[in-house]
Amino acid sequence: MAAKRKLSVLFVTSEVAPLVKTGGLADVSGALPIALMAQGVEVRVLMPGYPAVMEGVKAKGRLASLPAMGELPGCQLLAGKLPGGVPLLIVDCPQLYHRPGGPYQDISGKDWADNDLRFGLLCYVAALLAGAHSPITWRPRILHCNDWQAGLAPAYLHFMQGEKARTVTTIHNLAYQGVYPAVTLSRLGLPPSAFSPNGVEYYGNLSFLKAGLYYADHITTVSPNYAQEIQHAPLGMGLQGLLAHRVERLTGILNGIDTDAWDPESDPYIAKYYNAARLPVKLENKRALQSRLGLQAADDVPLIGSVGRFTDQKGFDLILECAQALIGLPAQLAILGSGDAELQEAFQQLARSHPGKVGVQIGYDESLAHQIEAGADLFLMPSRFEPCGLNQMYSQRYGTPPVVHATGGLVDSVVDCTPQTIANKTATGFLFSPMTREAMLIGVGRAVAAYRDKKLWRQLQKNGMARDFSWDTSARQYLELYAALLAEQPA
Ligand code: ADP
Repeated sequence: MAAKRKLSVLFVTSEVAPLVKTGGLADVSGALPIALMAQGVEVRVLMPGYPAVMEGVKAKGRLASLPAMGELPGCQLLAGKLPGGVPLLIVDCPQLYHRPGGPYQDISGKDWADNDLRFGLLCYVAALLAGAHSPITWRPRILHCNDWQAGLAPAYLHFMQGEKARTVTTIHNLAYQGVYPAVTLSRLGLPPSAFSPNGVEYYGNLSFLKAGLYYADHITTVSPNYAQEIQHAPLGMGLQGLLAHRVERLTGILNGIDTDAWDPESDPYIAKYYNAARLPVKLENKRALQSRLGLQAADDVPLIGSVGRFTDQKGFDLILECAQALIGLPAQLAILGSGDAELQEAFQQLARSHPGKVGVQIGYDESLAHQIEAGADLFLMPSRFEPCGLNQMYSQRYGTPPVVHATGGLVDSVVDCTPQTIANKTATGFLFSPMTREAMLIGVGRAVAAYRDKKLWRQLQKNGMARDFSWDTSARQYLELYAALLAEQPA
């Protein structure tokens, strides 16, 4: 009798928390493989050997030497472990990766001119490991590729002979697509036949992400609602036609959150621990936050928090436009963020002109982010689009009902407060739409009215705190998807 083969997954990514992080992809890459391992999957993560990886992973062994291909230089394949214990495969290529700066940009913020080669090599190595001519004995049955940086791996694999892994491409951010001139095809050693609308070609160029979406056996994105939205303009960002065409092969799986790092019962950053049974203690966190941000000590004035990147996506401009009306409710504002210079200046100006009522901190500050989640009464998230979003899940866990624009993963993770959801105890926050000042103010107004109803408010807080946003749930869905893909082909 043939032994049942263990489910093995090669998870290809360009960033992994805590080693290299620029966004949500790093959080997913840090957490999902751990959750999959806990469910019995044999996972290995493949990523480039940036300096932070070479320094952060102390014990490394050499597994194989890979020769150059096209303009891709030769490289070494190293094996180590991520801080969380997940086996790591590193593409060590000093010529491409050993340089100061970020994974995608130099220290001045300019994209590396050879990103096509940097991530082309990652894709090529991933495909080699997933195919019949792998230089190592370990074989993944699933090749799981993330974002454009891993998008060409299913394309390379498509053109390889012999037994191969099934492939999944996950979209974390559709705004970045890895588009390069046509000549890149031969530089990366892909066959001319790949350069077709039914292939890697995208309006005369080569697109890493389009290749990943075209050649992967399955596509996922990070929430079910966003999976619907990206089948249409404008959120499909040019790829809506292909995504709609592949709808049978497109699934949304909501991200989880790190429930250890974000736990009001043990969060080292907050003034006082609390849980659903000790909600009055949360007030001490509100007082501490008011004190830290120079806000007036006022227990009964609702404190509205918001944390995030100052980009067009996150809608902080709308908060700014509504600031007077929000303060007039009355309410206080606690804002933490960085990004767009004009928004930074405008928020600082707002804080100067409303001392005691508006507290603003510009920059990235992990401790303040936790303190806002714990100390605010409401959490405001007017994102124009949001593939998944994390803060709205943190805020529910912290008993801080979110007020969110009804888009993307926010729709999947926040239950709007209505007579029906109040009655069945599922309400956890407030959704507003469309993305206008008026609608946002109505949403916040509904939240403040609910805040004044102490019994209702407690119920909302408890409903949110009882929700399970752990990675286990998401990992189980990925596991089901992998199993379904493997069941489609003979073992
Ligand atoms: P995105 O990945 O699009 O930036 P998410 O809501 O998915 O948005 O995740 C953002 C994460 O980064 C959250 O954990 C949020 O608290 C954190 N974050 C964003 N900006 C800041 C900041 N200025 N200081 C601290 N944490 C921040």
